[in-house]
Amino acid sequence: MNIVLLGAPGSGKGTQASLLVDRLNARPMSTGDLFRKILGDPDHPLYPQLQVINEGKLVSDEVVNQVVESGIEEPEYQNGVIFDGYPRTIAQAEALDKMLKAKNKKLDLVFELNVTKEVLFYRILGRQVCPGCKAVYHEEQGYKTCPNCNTALIRRGDDNEETIIKRLEEYKNKTAPLKDYYKNSDTLLLSITVDDASLQAEEVNARIIKVLEENNVL
Ligand code: ADP
Ligand code: AMP
Repeated sequence: MNIVLLGAPGSGKGTQASLLVDRLNARPMSTGDLFRKILGDPDHPLYPQLQVINEGKLVSDEVVNQVVESGIEEPEYQNGVIFDGYPRTIAQAEALDKMLKAKNKKLDLVFELNVTKEVLFYRILGRQVCPGCKAVYHEEQGYKTCPNCNTALIRRGDDNEETIIKRLEEYKNKTAPLKDYYKNSDTLLLSITVDDASLQAEEVNARIIKVLEENNVL
C-alpha cells in the first residue's frame, strides 16, 4: 500500500507515520530525514543544493524526485511506502504517479492532517529529534536522550520562528494546491482536523485509524 501524508510542517506527519506502521503494510519515508542525512556529509554531491533548507525554502523538484526515485528501490519499501513530506509540489505529485506506474504500482491513499497555525507553532518550536533513530519528540515530554536508543536529542536547525514563517508560506503556495490535484484524481483523499493542542499523538492516531476503518482502508 502506498500512502501520502499531506500536511503543513509540524502537522504530525512523521509522528503519525511511525504510529501507522503497525497497521499498514508500508514503511515511512521522510524526504526531510533523507536530506538531513545528506547535510551531514559536506562531500555529498547534492550538499550544495540542499542549503536552501536552512532558509525554509523547498529543495528543487529535480533533486527531490531523484532522491525519492532511488530511495523507493530499497528493499524495505517493496511492500509500500508512507510518504512523509513528499510530494510537496504538483510537479512532484506528477513525478510520483509516474514512478509508481513504472513499477506497476499506484498511490492508494492521500491522508491530510489539518492542524491550526497555533498548534503548528507550538509543536515546531518544541520539537526535538533523535539524530540516531530519527524518532521525534516534544520538549514537554521532558526527554534529554532518546528513550529508544539513548542518543542525545537535538533541535532541528530550521525549527526557528523566522524559518517556520517561510516554510508555512511555501506550504500555502506550493503544497496546499495538491489537495485539489488529488481531489481531481482517482486516489482516495481522507482527512482529519486537529484544532486542540492537548490532543496527544496516540489520540490523533486513533482518530486516523477510525477514519481509515470507516472508509474500508483497514
Ligand atoms: P511533521 O513531520 O508534520 O513536520 P512532526 O511529526 O515532526 O511533524 O511533529 C512536530 C512536533 O509536534 C514534534 O515535536 C512532535 O513530537 C509533536 N507532535 C506531533 N503530534 C503531536 C500531538 N498530537 N500532540 C503533541 N505533540 C505532537
Ligand atoms: P521536513 O522534515 O519534511 O519538515 O522537511 C525539511 C525541509 O526539507 C523542508 O523545509 C524543505 O526545505 C526540504 N524538503 C523536504 N521534503 C521536500 C520536498 N518534497 N520538496 C522540497 N523540499 C523538501
